[in-house]
Amino acid sequence: MSLHKTILPAATAVGAQSTTLGVMGGGQLGRMFVQAAQRMGYFTAVLDPDVASPAGLISHVHVQTDYLDEQGLAQMLKRCAAITIEFENVPSGALYTLGAHLPTAPDSESVAICQDRAREKRHFNECAVACAPYAVIETAEQLAAAPEALLPGILKTARLGYDGKGQERVATREQLVAAWAALKQQPCVLEQWLPLALELSVILARDADGLTVALPIQHNLHRDGILAVTTAPAPGLCDALAANALAAAGRIAEGLLYVGVLCVEFFVLADGTLLANEMAPRPHNSGHHSLDSCDVSQFELQVRCMTGLPLVAPRQHSAAVMLNLLGDLWFDADGHERTPDWARVLALPGAHLHLYGKSSARRGRKMGHLSLTAATPEAAQATALQAARVLGIAPF
Ligand code: ATP
Ligand code: MG
Repeated sequence: MSLHKTILPAATAVGAQSTTLGVMGGGQLGRMFVQAAQRMGYFTAVLDPDVASPAGLISHVHVQTDYLDEQGLAQMLKRCAAITIEFENVPSGALYTLGAHLPTAPDSESVAICQDRAREKRHFNECAVACAPYAVIETAEQLAAAPEALLPGILKTARLGYDGKGQERVATREQLVAAWAALKQQPCVLEQWLPLALELSVILARDADGLTVALPIQHNLHRDGILAVTTAPAPGLCDALAANALAAAGRIAEGLLYVGVLCVEFFVLADGTLLANEMAPRPHNSGHHSLDSCDVSQFELQVRCMTGLPLVAPRQHSAAVMLNLLGDLWFDADGHERTPDWARVLALPGAHLHLYGKSSARRGRKMGHLSLTAATPEAAQATALQAARVLGIAPF
């Protein structure tokens, strides 16, 4: 069901039961959405099978069932006035079921496209947005016919990848064959491995009338396929490249008639070529700085999209650098568990600590993030480097 233009009020009268907003998925993105929604007076319901999910722990209601469980979906339909998602791998069947009865932002069709790298790339091209040279590999014949020019490359499963999982770098045809076997011959895309000069992301919000607003463009540094550091605004970006990235992301959203928050990740090559990498139909890790650096966060934008409240362009009032806090920081050099020295980190000016309430630390697991805000980009960068030193994060 498409989003109507009727505004869903937090509460119609003093003391009245508030409108409930639902979110499929209970990870950290769901948690920060719940926090934004609750701050604005809404009740929240989270569907996630995990008893200790970060969002479920703080939501008014936690429907603890599988994503396709009929009773779980029925409970969400009964309680919620509108539904969103916090990760794109919510089974699209669940969103179709919910979307038949309730407004969902984003819609199930957009999510289905984002769930499949091959469909996503086709959509980019249909919107006149270039991406890395690639080939779809679904059969042994397609594997054998993969162009030589795509090597060295990276083989990615078409579905269910995140944080660099489900990806294998391949330099030769033999490695390609072995990698496809290692990925259990699932449908994949083979992308040419590109020498990246930098990586950017555009996070926009689009309402049912097509009005679109965006956060300042982010510069992202990945390590081992996982986002490590985001700098906002992206330093030294030339106006033409920034305008191209915003326009490309806008066309991608418009082509989907998208309603909600959408992130488009871009590669930039040394000659300035801009290529779309992938998109996420939700708030994004690279937009977490907006909680502390902007007057409207990406999570509040998602609430506004869902409820028909007006979208206003976020104003960034502080420069920001965000460091992802991975589970590795909870282990010392000998592998013993420890607690990072938050007191020293929080002694730094402009340090904002966000921990997601996860019960145990694992290497590579996103446990929280730290945003460093300051009056100038240089000052934010300097305190971020100090924080990284305290925490044992490699300099950037
Ligand atoms: P997430 O969903 O967490 O962003 P993912 O698992 O979907 O990650 P990608 O965004 O496809 O993974 O890739 C992760 C990172 O790996 C990229 O941000 C980039 O640093 C690097 N990478 C991916 N594809 C290429 C490529 N074709 N050439 C060079 N680097 C690449
Ligand atoms: Mg990515």
